[in-house]
Amino acid sequence: EKLTSADAIALEDKFGAHNYHPLPVVLSRGEGVYLWDIEGKKYYDFLSAYSAVNQGHCHPKIISAMIHQAQTLTLTSRAFYNDKLGIYEEYVTKYFGFDKVLPMNTGAEAVETAVKICRKWAYEKKGISENNAQIIVCDGNFHGRTTTIISFSNDENARKNFGPYTSGFIKIPYNDVEALENVLASSTTIAGFLVEPIQGEAGVYMPSEDYLAKAKALCAANNVLFIADEVQTGIARTGSLLAVCGNCTCENKCEKQASYVAPDILILGKAISGGAYPVSAVLANNEIMNVIKPGQHGSTFGGNPVAAAVAMAALDVVNEEKLSQNARHLGKIFRTELGKYIENSNIATLVRGKGLLNAIVINDTEDSDTAWNICMKMAENGLLAKPTHGNIIRFAPPLVMTEEQLLDCISIIISTLQQFEK
Ligand code: PMP
Repeated sequence: EKLTSADAIALEDKFGAHNYHPLPVVLSRGEGVYLWDIEGKKYYDFLSAYSAVNQGHCHPKIISAMIHQAQTLTLTSRAFYNDKLGIYEEYVTKYFGFDKVLPMNTGAEAVETAVKICRKWAYEKKGISENNAQIIVCDGNFHGRTTTIISFSNDENARKNFGPYTSGFIKIPYNDVEALENVLASSTTIAGFLVEPIQGEAGVYMPSEDYLAKAKALCAANNVLFIADEVQTGIARTGSLLAVCGNCTCENKCEKQASYVAPDILILGKAISGGAYPVSAVLANNEIMNVIKPGQHGSTFGGNPVAAAVAMAALDVVNEEKLSQNARHLGKIFRTELGKYIENSNIATLVRGKGLLNAIVINDTEDSDTAWNICMKMAENGLLAKPTHGNIIRFAPPLVMTEEQLLDCISIIISTLQQFEK
């Protein structure tokens, strides 16, 4: 007998840990910007698995690389070399303009890796005494779910009753240059500044134009590592290959903007594999990366041949299909059209974002159900998005979307919002 959506949800409810609150839609197929549920209903994907499926679902080039590699060699561990890893490492370092890469699997793992590299660098190169290194982080951050990372989260639901917490983090307000300047001036034990160029999980919260450049300059002046977490913003999502692309050597000819700064450590995940396989990466130059010695960090799966093959194909697609340009172009249309609607709306008050990472703010409280109810209705109308808060909906479609498809999506979003106007 055929499994129904209700069956699949019941199974998960019964046998799965309840660590998520998904929209009640059971997906069984994807292609490009589309997803289908078990019953065959077709949707536009407007989340891309939290900005992982930038290249679109089941991209033929990526899947073919994955199948070919899976039939040849899947895993050796790093106990031995594999024939794909070195080639991938050369490819990915040149692609992003760094000397070296440390391959991992998930975003959170890559953030943990960056924290370790930064601390070791501080003890060996900066002369901070052992166990004293501090890393500055920002209010509203989201860097993952591990014990160290939740130690400096503001999300009480994610943090409470999971202590004891890891020390060594100083939290300052996001988008506040003066706060950064003050901490740097008042302490000699700062090793790094960990920042999201745009705070995705905080509701696509955007810093002011010159924030990142000023922050980077302050870090440089104080010999503090500027660590960019581009797990969500990276890989063409915001209309350039990276939201901070100072090292970038790609041929996308992105506008040289205020955020055109070079991070000392770059953290990537999600769309580096087009969402087809868990791949993450930490990039840095020799002076920093060489502090890590054999036996000090690793993962059984990090740098496996399937990951290497998939990531190379996924990054090829970003250039071949000019995804940065497309994200920039479609993002402008999205914000213009939603902006026009919002001018006369009682239910939506603001659209913000960059490239195809956008959000709308709903005229209700953060703990209301309104954004959830709107997303439920949008799903009914054939478009899948998810709230970040009770009053914020994030919109992050695959970057392979056409202008015609985007206009179709905008009309679904607007007609759904109209159903909620008071
Ligand atoms: N950093 C940022 C900025 C993220 O948005 C996320 C995921 N939403 C992560 C890290 C964690 O990535 P993962 O879920 O793969 O651990």
